[in-house]
Amino acid sequence: MSRVLTNIRWLATCPAAGGPDDLGLITDAALAWRGGRIEWVGPAAELPAEYRSWPTEDAGGAGVIPGLIDCHTHLAFAGWRADEFAERCRGATYGEIAARGGGILRTVAATRAASEDELFARSLGFLREMAALGVTALECKSGYGLTVEDELKLLRVYRRLADAPPHLPLTATLLGAHVVPPEFRNDREGYLRLLCEDLIPRVEAESLAAFCDVFVEEGAFTPDEARRVFAAAEGHSLIPKLHADQLSDTGGAALAAEVGAVSADHLEFASDAGLSAMAEAGTVAVLLPFATLTTHVPPLDARRCLRACVRVAVATDFNPGSAPSYHLPFALSLACSLNRLTPAQALRGATINAARALHWDTLLGSLQPGKRADFVLLDAESVDHWLYHIRPNAAVGVFIGGERFR
Ligand SMILES: [Zn+2]
Repeated sequence: MSRVLTNIRWLATCPAAGGPDDLGLITDAALAWRGGRIEWVGPAAELPAEYRSWPTEDAGGAGVIPGLIDCHTHLAFAGWRADEFAERCRGATYGEIAARGGGILRTVAATRAASEDELFARSLGFLREMAALGVTALECKSGYGLTVEDELKLLRVYRRLADAPPHLPLTATLLGAHVVPPEFRNDREGYLRLLCEDLIPRVEAESLAAFCDVFVEEGAFTPDEARRVFAAAEGHSLIPKLHADQLSDTGGAALAAEVGAVSADHLEFASDAGLSAMAEAGTVAVLLPFATLTTHVPPLDARRCLRACVRVAVATDFNPGSAPSYHLPFALSLACSLNRLTPAQALRGATINAARALHWDTLLGSLQPGKRADFVLLDAESVDHWLYHIRPNAAVGVFIGGERFR
């Protein structure tokens, strides 16, 4: 199928080679695609003759951005934890709630009890609502199973989601090192062996994940334990990612650089030395402003990342505890207010830089010839206005692989 999108008020290409603020903005633009790939983009007045006979699609004067990429979600889980949210509003801490059997381990228990089909149906509902908001690709983590079979169950849910309409590019991450499960409370060594010697090889054998993530934090895993997990992961073709420096400075940013992680996520307590090491290693910093809000920690000033020449991405961290929302556009508005990104930097953070955090930057994340025809039509006069005026949904059109989803 070939098409030309016309009547575009403004279009942000978000060029892969651009700087942190470079939107590659074109006013009165046109966009031509065929077979799910972009063929041409530029000012409508310069549309080459060969595309003028193609069927057109009227954008109605909308703005156009690349499809958004949510590069950090925990999409498949069972149950919610609204009661814990209310408790925290009344002053309870995460530690107190966890000590009473709440927190991550409560979601683990619910997720273990759920079937693969139940998790699939629920996650597909979330995914379709995300797509309606303009999210056209995403990363999904396991981490609420924490047995070999339950982690594989979550990763199989993600494989089925990738194969289901609307066929969003979806990449999966093994987060077996989320927390030590209760049955291994007194045997961390046993759990690490299970993870490195049994689960990781099984994930590779079934080609169920591209990345391996470790939650490096007090109460989760130490930097040395993470090194061991990453060594096993790399031996089985899984690329490192990290939950780093969220609640304290554990040296997570420097560790991410040391192990060649594609991204380090959270980073509220990252040191300047750690950020410099990330710049050197090409590790992307992923801001997760919903989690910053709910954990009541001081937000990371993302200008520190930019000064250190670290690329910055923004994601939802969608999960039932610290980030119970998949509203990525709202997360981008928060990344401006809390983390001091400009709207242009935030948009690049959920397009081309999010693509980099998933090794997808040659295929996704900008509106350039050869890339997938994933784009969103916005009822907004500019990128600034879109992220300033927070609305339920400014997306008036969403195209996934060149096909209209809404
Ligand atoms: Zn997370």
